[in-house]
Amino acid sequence: MHAFENLDVFGGVVSLDFANTVDGRATEQPVEYLHTYADLAAWSAYMGMIDDATAERLGRLDGGASLDQALSLREAIFQVFRAIGRGEPAPVAELDEVRLRYAEAVAAARLSPGDDGTFGWRFEGDDPDRAWWPIAVDAVRLLTGGPLDRIKVCAAPAGCVGLFLDTSKNRSRRWCTMDGCGVDAKVKRQATRRRTAR
Ligand SMILES: [Zn+2]
Repeated sequence: MHAFENLDVFGGVVSLDFANTVDGRATEQPVEYLHTYADLAAWSAYMGMIDDATAERLGRLDGGASLDQALSLREAIFQVFRAIGRGEPAPVAELDEVRLRYAEAVAAARLSPGDDGTFGWRFEGDDPDRAWWPIAVDAVRLLTGGPLDRIKVCAAPAGCVGLFLDTSKNRSRRWCTMDGCGVDAKVKRQATRRRTAR
């Protein structure tokens, strides 16, 4: 079974999906998908930021420090974009964390043309931080280029707090996944299980 089989990918951009690698954040039992550095490397490959062979090589490195940095970036991304999604000012310390990680990523990148001829930040080599560098770049691209008015927080009352880009024509999307949010049902199942256990 693939490690991310149960993880819904609905953010629309990598940085929001990264924030969503904790499922049901505001519920009693949030689900963490990134337990180890190897998980992070695998997720990066799953999202197409690095190829599978690179993920396998990186996953064998001692990436504890990189995982810590990535998770701190993830919390900053979550706080910043949740605030934006709610129409609130972005928190200053978290914004600075995103800026710092972006600066680190860009310092390690090469500027080179892609398939369409436009230039972008490219990463090479087996530095463990390569697993999160493209996420920092994506977060800043979203902050500077938008569309910030399409960033939304899942409307499920049970505490999903999933972040996504609403690309629907009339901007009417309210839930993380198209057919409604699964967190309500999950929380109910957990409550039933607790009652049964008692
Ligand atoms: Zn949701």
